[in-house]
Amino acid sequence: MRFSQLYAPTLKEAPSDADLVSIKLLIRGGFVRKVAAGVYTYLPLGFRVLKKIEEIVRQEMNAIGSQEILMPIIQPAELWHETGRWDDYGPEMMKLQDRHERFFTLGPTHEEIITHILRNELKSYKQLPVSLYQIAMKYRDEIRPRFGLMRSREFLMKDAYSFHDSWESLDEAYKKFYSAYSKILERLGLDYLVVEADSGAIGGNESHEFNVLAKYGESTLLYCDCGYAASDEKAEYLFKPIVQNRLPAELELVSTPQSRTVEEVTAFLGVSSREIIKSLIYSGRNGYVMVLIRGDEELNESKLKASMNDQTLTMATPQQVFELLKVPVGFVGPVGLPNGIEIVADLSIKGLKNAVGGALKEGFHYRGILPERDFKIGKWLDLKMVKTGDACPKCGKSLKSAKGIEVGHIFKLGTKYSDKMEGSVTDAQGNAISYVMGCYGWGVSRTIGAIVEQLHDKDGMIWPLEAAPFDIIVTAVNTKDEEIMKRSVEIYELLKKWGYDVLLDDRETSPGMKFKDADLIGIPVRVTLGKKLAEGIVEIKSRTEEKPVMVSVNDGYGPIV
Ligand code: ATP
Ligand code: MG
Ligand code: MG
Ligand code: MG
Repeated sequence: MRFSQLYAPTLKEAPSDADLVSIKLLIRGGFVRKVAAGVYTYLPLGFRVLKKIEEIVRQEMNAIGSQEILMPIIQPAELWHETGRWDDYGPEMMKLQDRHERFFTLGPTHEEIITHILRNELKSYKQLPVSLYQIAMKYRDEIRPRFGLMRSREFLMKDAYSFHDSWESLDEAYKKFYSAYSKILERLGLDYLVVEADSGAIGGNESHEFNVLAKYGESTLLYCDCGYAASDEKAEYLFKPIVQNRLPAELELVSTPQSRTVEEVTAFLGVSSREIIKSLIYSGRNGYVMVLIRGDEELNESKLKASMNDQTLTMATPQQVFELLKVPVGFVGPVGLPNGIEIVADLSIKGLKNAVGGALKEGFHYRGILPERDFKIGKWLDLKMVKTGDACPKCGKSLKSAKGIEVGHIFKLGTKYSDKMEGSVTDAQGNAISYVMGCYGWGVSRTIGAIVEQLHDKDGMIWPLEAAPFDIIVTAVNTKDEEIMKRSVEIYELLKKWGYDVLLDDRETSPGMKFKDADLIGIPVRVTLGKKLAEGIVEIKSRTEEKPVMVSVNDGYGPIV
């Protein structure tokens, strides 16, 4: 590719709404352009990177025997009603209607579709295991799209699903995906950490997240020298089981991402972490928000009251509360009310009614909900909260923490979906058994952001060879110099013949501009033809090295290793 023909509009300054170095550089380098919040266009350089990452992921999936398919983005509501997720998934789900007023979703994930397809085709355990994957756009109406490609509303995901006649068979597949994911990260040359994860709303048992380590990663990871590593969501999602098990159909769940530590939330609310564990934030969709502290122990009523009366808290919209607290709670609010203003409280809590009363304004509904009747409290009280400095559950030493970007997530789903959707096969005895499933997600477009977030310097991006838009840039310092141009084209053609992706900088701009752009777009190797060519010398410089290597081309060109 000749730079003079490449559509790569580089910019001196990033737009002011670019909130992280990765998206700043990607926009400045002409890789992507924002169309709407969390919606991006990939320009040629960005598209090349996307395709390269996609290809690495594809190769590693094929290598473990997963087969590529393509499922529709648009999915009928009926399938989601079967699993209950049409209502449970929450407002992250983009919903739409066709001209006949039938409901559809732009798929945020594909468990329902794949389970549906296979339930009509799979008959016998002899057809198992099966492993299928696709690489396709996903849609999630994130409450707060941000960090460029990393938390967008339209994003490219590789999602794989495996089907088994036993848990042992699932375990085997799970291990294969685990090592394939590690391999992808190793090929990309990234520092990463695999952690035990919460399986979240998707359900299931065992789960691991693959995180690219980066200063501004959204995930907090706890780890120990002994090898134990877990996401702090395991602790923070204490709220989740309650929300998931809630019963009233009129309550709507909006799950939110997290980023504050439990300690910060504790300090903010002025209550003990034990109480926080037992707290929930409820909210009307556009209305007021309140915190419910529940538990078997006596509440510190004055503290509770103080936090309830805090204007910023009680008067905030869910969005504002989320900005303030960043706790990964499910906002549960009544739907169907015109303004969504109704306050839900657990009336069984001693002293709560009064505390809440002080924070309530006249004219708002006040509806009680009762645990067990309206939601189940079950196992959530047993979950353990893990934080920095705590004893490692494996060896007892003190836990450390790091920030990471979740690029991959693997789950053992078990029979959650096959049970609900009646996906079964006959076993050796002829009995119908629900097939056991695993699912395995990889954020292909998020990986672009994660790479830049980890690998950049003051001059720009530093692409690992396997993801770089071009392997080599041949910089013709002076395009008016005939000999330089002739030799540059010669080297460019030769490198292409040897199988490299090469960019020839043949633009009529200053050498300074050319070097700056080459650094900004982060091409791993630069071959420069300048004044020294008169003595038969070209410069070869790695993006990460200060000094170039001088190479004589008088005796022809040898293959590059
Ligand atoms: P997060 O915790 O960051 O919200 P998630 O746990 O909701 O992500 P999964 O449902 O596990 O995401 O989806 C699989 C992968 O898809 C994630 O590991 C991530 O790499 C990618 N992904 C999820 N949400 C987004 C998004 N909004 N933008 C880009 N990539 C995403
Ligand atoms: Mg999410
Ligand atoms: Mg997650
Ligand atoms: Mg996940």
